[in-house]
Amino acid sequence: SDHQLEYPLSPNDMDWRKLYPYFYDESKGDMTKEVTIADIGCGFGGLLIDLSPAFPDKLILGMEIRVQVTNYVEDRIIALRANNVKTNAYQNINVLRGNAMKFLPNFFHQAQLEKMFFCFPDPHFKQRKHKARIITNTLLSEYAYVLKEGGIIYTITDVLDLHEWMAKHLTEHPLFERLSQEWEDQDECVKIMRHATEEGKKVERKKGDKYVACFKRLPTPEII
Ligand code: SAM
Repeated sequence: SDHQLEYPLSPNDMDWRKLYPYFYDESKGDMTKEVTIADIGCGFGGLLIDLSPAFPDKLILGMEIRVQVTNYVEDRIIALRANNVKTNAYQNINVLRGNAMKFLPNFFHQAQLEKMFFCFPDPHFKQRKHKARIITNTLLSEYAYVLKEGGIIYTITDVLDLHEWMAKHLTEHPLFERLSQEWEDQDECVKIMRHATEEGKKVERKKGDKYVACFKRLPTPEII
């Protein structure tokens, strides 16, 4: 459970060097880059692995609550790095075990992130379980805090009711604006997200539908 999880007191206490040693500058004693892309509930890591070569200059972090799944993704990334020593491929991705519904601001500064992915989140079908969903009004304000202006929230699911729920909450939130179908059609990440994740592949095998909704982080209104 959460009680065994360790969280940094603030983003400055995070030791990112451990996760992305290639992006640590020994002489400066600091990271050369910070994480700007987060995959929330990354599962087995398929999205991270496909995003890695598409965004070689960005640090990408998967967050996953299940221990064994996190360990599996860690091992997968270690193997990929070991097989690509010459090119340094896959140095820009890693995974962290944690509850993304809590303490996100402990990991990320305000406006740090450019993109957040919510791929096939757990549906929590029953009405009384809806509050456990990863998109709720309170959590959206936290996501808005860590996302920079113009940053994007990507959502995809095969559960129509969950899609409608996520789209409704995001649309109603004053700091998010839904992006058009035309925007989705031209966006590289939407293409990747449709096919990269393990859950997405499962849906493909079952010939199920996939529902996408993307949202832009709006400027925070000035308080007069
Ligand atoms: N995104 C992956 C995919 O598309 O294949 C995994 C989808 S799976 C249905 C949902 C994942 O979210 C599970 O691996 C689950 O452990 C993880 N998860 C659920 N709640 C979470 C939370 N609060 N923080 C981090 N991960 C969470």
